[in-house]
Amino acid sequence: MDQGKGLVLVVEDERPIADLLRMYLARDGFGVHVEHDGAAGLAAARRLRPVACVLDIALPGMDGTEVCRRLREAGDWTPVLFLTARDDEIDRILGLELGGDDYVTKPFSPRELVSRVKAVLRRTQGPPPGAEQVRTVGPITIDPARRECLVGGEPVPLTSTEFSLLAHLMGRPGRVFTREELLSSVWGYAAHTGTRTVDVHVAQVRGKLGDAAGVIRTVRGVGYTADA
Ligand code: CA
Repeated sequence: MDQGKGLVLVVEDERPIADLLRMYLARDGFGVHVEHDGAAGLAAARRLRPVACVLDIALPGMDGTEVCRRLREAGDWTPVLFLTARDDEIDRILGLELGGDDYVTKPFSPRELVSRVKAVLRRTQGPPPGAEQVRTVGPITIDPARRECLVGGEPVPLTSTEFSLLAHLMGRPGRVFTREELLSSVWGYAAHTGTRTVDVHVAQVRGKLGDAAGVIRTVRGVGYTADA
């Protein structure tokens, strides 16, 4: 199996969709391992340590959100991209409890799914050049090289995406970033896909920052900024 770009775990019970994803991801140079139910998917994630997981939500037995929850509970922050048939699940699956990194809504184009997987890996593997220095804004310190966030000296467990978002805002304190800009810089795709993802993730990061949440300020009608 060609694993040149790393192994992606796909958990999807609809075999035609799973086959399509396998084909498109493999064509792009990823190794692909497919499971068809949640329990097998969870076991494979633990055993194979993929670079990313694509989890269908509606799975027999344990659903995709439960698979993700159990990974996170065990301290596994492998990027997770959900497949969902329902728009109204988005807040929950990207939310604090589950820590999903992205989603696509069924029906989706396999090409779009592959580009989302690549985008999630771009922002979770290796920081851009010059982005390695430790930064402090107010009570928050981030260390991009170690992907570590400290508030008052205590570590805050952020997902890869949450970290990238916070690091981006803290990279230029006081500068206001629009949602579209953040979507493009942090998520790596164009703003026409919608900016709600940005708001949901900002809410999560604030939730985790606790008393330091005020460092991320909403600029009404514009976007967000980090300042002390
Ligand atoms: Ca399904």
